[in-house]
Amino acid sequence: MREFGYRRADDVQGAVALLAADPGARLLGGGTNLVDLMKTGVERPALLIDVQDLPLDRIEVTADGALHIGATVTNSDLAADPEVRRRYPALAQAVLSGASGQLRNMATVGGNLLQRTRCGYFTDPAAPCNKRDPGSGCPAIGGEHHNHAILGASAHCVAVHPSDMAVALAAFDAVVTYETSDGPGELPLAEFYLPVGRTPHRETALPSGALITGLRLPPAPVAAVSRYRKVRERASFAFAIGSLAAALDVRDGTVQEVRLAFGAVASRPWRARAAERALIGGPASAEAFAAAADAELAAAEVLPHNGYKVALLRNLVVAVLTELTEEAAR
Ligand SMILES: Cc1cc2nc3c(=O)[nH]c(=O)nc-3n(C[C@H](O)[C@H](O)[C@H](O)COP(=O)(O)OP(=O)(O)OC[C@H]3O[C@@H](n4cnc5c(N)ncnc54)[C@H](O)[C@@H]3O)c2cc1C
Ligand code: SF4
Repeated sequence: MREFGYRRADDVQGAVALLAADPGARLLGGGTNLVDLMKTGVERPALLIDVQDLPLDRIEVTADGALHIGATVTNSDLAADPEVRRRYPALAQAVLSGASGQLRNMATVGGNLLQRTRCGYFTDPAAPCNKRDPGSGCPAIGGEHHNHAILGASAHCVAVHPSDMAVALAAFDAVVTYETSDGPGELPLAEFYLPVGRTPHRETALPSGALITGLRLPPAPVAAVSRYRKVRERASFAFAIGSLAAALDVRDGTVQEVRLAFGAVASRPWRARAAERALIGGPASAEAFAAAADAELAAAEVLPHNGYKVALLRNLVVAVLTELTEEAAR
């Protein structure tokens, strides 16, 4: 590991000023992703600015009924919060499905949003990789890609975003709030992660020098009947090979409102809007759920070894929406 400086910031403005003053500076949340990448030389910051003492560790209900979640709230505290569990159960389930207890005690909301892909070529500095070294190529396309993207990818990168938390946030229309030396700003999650296109190294629309201060979750009564289901290669301590955050409001057998977001299928959490449109106002039946999944997955472009994800996601949609329909009927 290269030598680097370390500063602990105790207020947001101070952290942003430190970040603006040094182009080689990086923010440090729990360090569970950044420090791993520093050990292998993928990340080489000159200075780490530790944000863990910032007053951003609260979860609060705001006057308009939204939930504000601070950026340094740990994954464990987020999953245990009574308001999150009651109003957005799929979010608590998504967070709990990730990593391990020890990691969740360290990992923060801001760091989870910005964790990097687990593509094996990206994490190996000896391999070419357009995301790490723009223009060097994408060996995953002709190589190891069984857990790579089937939606929204490009000829320049087919990596998937690894966060479980962000999938539930996408379903619930979360908004990311941030601070820069020019003042505060915010980005809906739908605009936060950039399409991969020709620039896979540009992952988010955050302005440079931005510190994520938190998330706003708007009130969403439909989210109270929600679920996160993750498929992985072993029962715990593994990233998703496909996942679904779903929320459903069914009355008299008819779908009133539905939220669907897929994980591990794209470079960002994938809000399944075509599937949602197909379901609204129609019957809550297994046939309708399967047809809605097909409407979304018609856009899938598979590689030789990741085509299984199409059937996996279709089955997840049918299974989880069927369970939520039964739950609503109780
Ligand atoms: C073995 C292992 C298994 C895992 N399994 C899963 C899993 O199954 N599902 C899952 O979702 N995750 C999983 N994770 C990932 C884990 O959740 C992330 O490492 C973690 O969420 C990152 O949070 P952190 O606070 O430690 O981020 P850090 O490592 O501190 O930072 C990550 C990035 O975010 C930036 N950053 C941090 N805070 C801010 C801020 N406030 N504003 C702007 N930028 C910021 C950093 O500069 C860095 O670029 C796993 C990790 C490990 C090591
Ligand atoms: S899929 Fe993306 S991250 Fe993986 S090797 Fe290709 S360019 Fe790099």
